[in-house]
Amino acid sequence: MIKMDEINELLRKVRESCDFKEVFRTRGIRITNKCIQKPLCYYCNYMNEDIYFTSVEEVISRALELKNSGVDRVTLVSGWLGYNNKLGVRYVKAIRDDSRFDDLRLSAAFGRLSKSSLLALKKAGLDQYGCNLEGVPEILVKIKGINDFEERINTLECAREVGLDISTGFIIGVGEDWKMFDRLLRNIKELDPCSIFMSPFEPYPNTPMENFPPSNLKRVIKAIAKTKLAFPEKIIGVRIIMQCKHLPREIVSLMIYAGANLIAPPPAFSDRSVKEFFEVLKTNAENLNILYNKLINEGVNNTDVTEFIDIVGNLNLV
Ligand code: SF4
Repeated sequence: MIKMDEINELLRKVRESCDFKEVFRTRGIRITNKCIQKPLCYYCNYMNEDIYFTSVEEVISRALELKNSGVDRVTLVSGWLGYNNKLGVRYVKAIRDDSRFDDLRLSAAFGRLSKSSLLALKKAGLDQYGCNLEGVPEILVKIKGINDFEERINTLECAREVGLDISTGFIIGVGEDWKMFDRLLRNIKELDPCSIFMSPFEPYPNTPMENFPPSNLKRVIKAIAKTKLAFPEKIIGVRIIMQCKHLPREIVSLMIYAGANLIAPPPAFSDRSVKEFFEVLKTNAENLNILYNKLINEGVNNTDVTEFIDIVGNLNLV
């Protein structure tokens, strides 16, 4: 059980020691949901879907829609297609050959890759490669059935060697304890990525983990704050999933307050919702400080997060 006092203390440290200047906006474009990983990861909803490939034209039009909806960085994603992902190079090249995307930061996440594949992506114009560690090795075995931790580390090291910026991340709330979490942060520190991205666990129906409980919000907030304190200069990203059907302004505000500065809206959001979402999120540290001080002055520092969020939701934040 995470105490609200502990969260408040972490949030206080974050506010005192970290700078909050900018919140970046990101979204992924799937080029295919094909994945040759065996078995498929126990949490992955790809196993519920028919295999599809997105055409280059669709990816271009999608990237344009996202750019127009306020996204400033796009990540091309696929299932794992093996160590040599030639498909991804084609999409990266198509985007880079189009001058409308000159100011778009382009990243890719195709899983473990060979150094030659990473070099081909770099030459095609990719800015950044992301390979999530997901968790410490013993957690990987539980949620994927395999331990590919070292391969993931190796992919990131190779990506750096060919000149790509690197990012990594993990899933929160899949059975890890805080000692494991701290160990993972130490592993990430050695890699020195430019951004760290976290995905709160959310169960999908018809997957082996469908009955595993979704990550609790207090855990997410604590994980964000601990990560921000460990990496005050880095971009800390969080994927908003949590089965959100509406704009979770109050949840996102709390995450930004805890130190997140890269936000990926829920996959179910339409582009219009994404645009509104980012307009609402033109939140700056000053607004959040006012908000938090107000909350503290109103004596809610010992309440649980649900109540905290209710109060945040009632404030006209931006
Ligand atoms: S490697 Fe990625 S796409 Fe493939 S099963 Fe695992 S999470 Fe899903």
